[in-house]
Amino acid sequence: MEDYLVKSIYKDGLIRAFAVKATNVIAEAQERHDTWSSSTVALGRTMLGTMLLGANQKGEDKITVRINGNGSAGEILVDADAHGNVKGYISNPFVDLKRNDNGEVIVNQAVGNEGFLTVIKDMGLREPYAGQTPLISGEIAEDFTYYLTESEQIPSAVGLSVQLDAEDRVRVAGGFMVQVMPGATEETIQFIEERLQQLRAISELLTKDGKPEDLLDAIFGEGEYKALEQLPVQFHCDCSKEKFGRGIISLGVAEIHAIIEEDHGAEVVCQFCENKYQFSEEDLVALEKEATRE
Ligand SMILES: [Zn+2]
Repeated sequence: MEDYLVKSIYKDGLIRAFAVKATNVIAEAQERHDTWSSSTVALGRTMLGTMLLGANQKGEDKITVRINGNGSAGEILVDADAHGNVKGYISNPFVDLKRNDNGEVIVNQAVGNEGFLTVIKDMGLREPYAGQTPLISGEIAEDFTYYLTESEQIPSAVGLSVQLDAEDRVRVAGGFMVQVMPGATEETIQFIEERLQQLRAISELLTKDGKPEDLLDAIFGEGEYKALEQLPVQFHCDCSKEKFGRGIISLGVAEIHAIIEEDHGAEVVCQFCENKYQFSEEDLVALEKEATRE
């Protein structure tokens, strides 16, 4: 089944909820980065949260989320846009922490909570918007909730889930974001809070043929909300040989010359998607020429 996100409103639009199922997207991230259990779940949850924030953007706006909690997994960096494209990177993909008794994956120690969740929104303006809140748990969903409520001042609830199978492959991945708009009554807020407290596990609601709509049904009640839009989501990296070529040019003539002399070529690996780009000696000589002109 294809991965997608659903945008919905409840009660005249005073409550907004987005739900996403992205099992394939997170499985692709795991495959590309060869992540182990804790790294898979930490990166996956951050990608889900960033997709939900990205879906709230407009047009060509882009959003970047950086989580740096001083844990063993290092930094997590995820980019998403309003069209359902997402790419992500974790500096240490090889963290595998489990509770002995039941194999439950430990995330907060891998992420750490001595640091920040930073959100950068590139809206095509000269200065991108940046907001930041301290990490409060390192479990990611709580950290997104705290960011939205504190930094963006929108009372929110975020749930993110990446469940692995016995071989630590991604079995199911999805999540939701519920936001209260100004004007919502105390009664409505209380109703939603109670529904969220009683919510079954996301992985249970989405397992097998579960859809994002099943999450929304569980949150608001079947038929109680209005679905506005379905947005396909996919792992997508916008890297290219040309882009990395410009990066090589920016190294400067002397540096490029040294690479030609020593290695007679170069291989560049994209940190977001692990695609490899080969630059032959000829390519490098051409780039050196361009660098001379700059
Ligand atoms: Zn790439």
